[in-house]
Amino acid sequence: MIDRTRLRELHAAEERRFVDDRPRSAALAKEAGDALLAGVPMPWMTRWPGAFPLVFERASGARFTDVDGREYVDLCLGDTGAMTGHALPEVTEAIAERAATGITTMLPSTDAAWVAEELRRRFGLARWQMAMSATDANRFVLRFARHLTGRPKVAVMDWCYHGTVDETLAVLDEGGRVVPRPGALGPQVDVAVTTRVVPFNDPAALEAALAHGDVAALLMEPALTNIGIVLPEDGYLDEVRRLTRAAGTLLIIDETHTICAGPGGATRAWGLDPDILVVGKPIGAGVPAAAYGVSADVADALGPQMRSHDIDVAGVGGTLTGNALALAAVRRTLSVALREEDFAMAIPLAQRWADGVAGVIAAHGLPWHVQRLGARAEYWFCPPPRDGASAAAAVDEELEAFLHLWALNRGILLTPFHNMALFSPHHTEADVDLHTRVFGEAVEALLGR
Ligand code: PMP
Repeated sequence: MIDRTRLRELHAAEERRFVDDRPRSAALAKEAGDALLAGVPMPWMTRWPGAFPLVFERASGARFTDVDGREYVDLCLGDTGAMTGHALPEVTEAIAERAATGITTMLPSTDAAWVAEELRRRFGLARWQMAMSATDANRFVLRFARHLTGRPKVAVMDWCYHGTVDETLAVLDEGGRVVPRPGALGPQVDVAVTTRVVPFNDPAALEAALAHGDVAALLMEPALTNIGIVLPEDGYLDEVRRLTRAAGTLLIIDETHTICAGPGGATRAWGLDPDILVVGKPIGAGVPAAAYGVSADVADALGPQMRSHDIDVAGVGGTLTGNALALAAVRRTLSVALREEDFAMAIPLAQRWADGVAGVIAAHGLPWHVQRLGARAEYWFCPPPRDGASAAAAVDEELEAFLHLWALNRGILLTPFHNMALFSPHHTEADVDLHTRVFGEAVEALLGR
């Protein structure tokens, strides 16, 4: 239904508008081009819409302002890192206090036990430790799983994302072989050696993968969120638990994104029972921090070994991991944000957004769909996919790039890499309605209506 020539013309006009509206970002991009590799501090920052990444100056609540003085409604929220809302005053205060009294000593601070207790209350797992990022946490718990089971491999879902963890950057090719993600930057050691990959929502494939008896852990999101939102079918997660238990494979649930389902993530919302749980990104309201929780059984097996000198702990943690600043930020964040009452505000906004987008889609008879998980929602150019491969096949980069740029030029930042919006208690219904209007206008322009 989309005329590609029209799409390209519209996109070119948006590209011009982007450049014209942002002289200061353009100038900074030029400067940055000299000393920064690829002109940006992180490779994925090259993926933003527009000829250059806009440079932000300040963010607060659900909004930010760029260096050209333009204000945006932030539906990306640092891809969940700022899901609490930006620059929470209480967290800012805690960070300042801690910065003034010492950030890092390698010793535990007084906040550590409080944080562990609160994470236990929220997610239900018995014992906790800290990491700097969800990536790190995933790396550490995979190490634990291999240590405890004596098995070499890990299993992941096709088209998953769990951070820059080598074992998890794997997909199935058309022949069902485990291969690195297409175009992988420096593909890792043969990923088929380390990893078994199974399609989401496919218990039979999981059973077959685990039957080899060599899988230490299954690491998964309870709903895929990194190739769009793919929700579990009824009974699927029960089957996952039953099959992993039967195979002696540890079940690791990564709640880094699915914490959008509620204060205890999907684990609490859906009554899941993982052996290990990982959560990162928003728990420090943007200060780098992550945590992993383990069941009582895993804790009983691992804790005494950690305390003794029988194992080498060098493979887990880093010098700055669990530093006092991160713990102070997490403590204050969990005290004032990501609580029931916060989700009670954010989730209806995500629902309103999904309804608004669905209304535009229906009005134009497009075969597109919207999916929501708690405070997060996303639109697709196809019916809701049931696994990662069909989700990946439905990605339309050209169309996506246009819709992102169109929104950005009208003051809305969407999450890069997919058509996702995330809500905080700081958004308003007017923010949602602005997106609905802007999205509707983009569709009308595309269809020439
Ligand atoms: N797990 C999941 C489910 C994620 O979505 C991500 C990042 N998008 C990570 C882990 C890694 O988080 P980080 O980049 O903060 O280490």
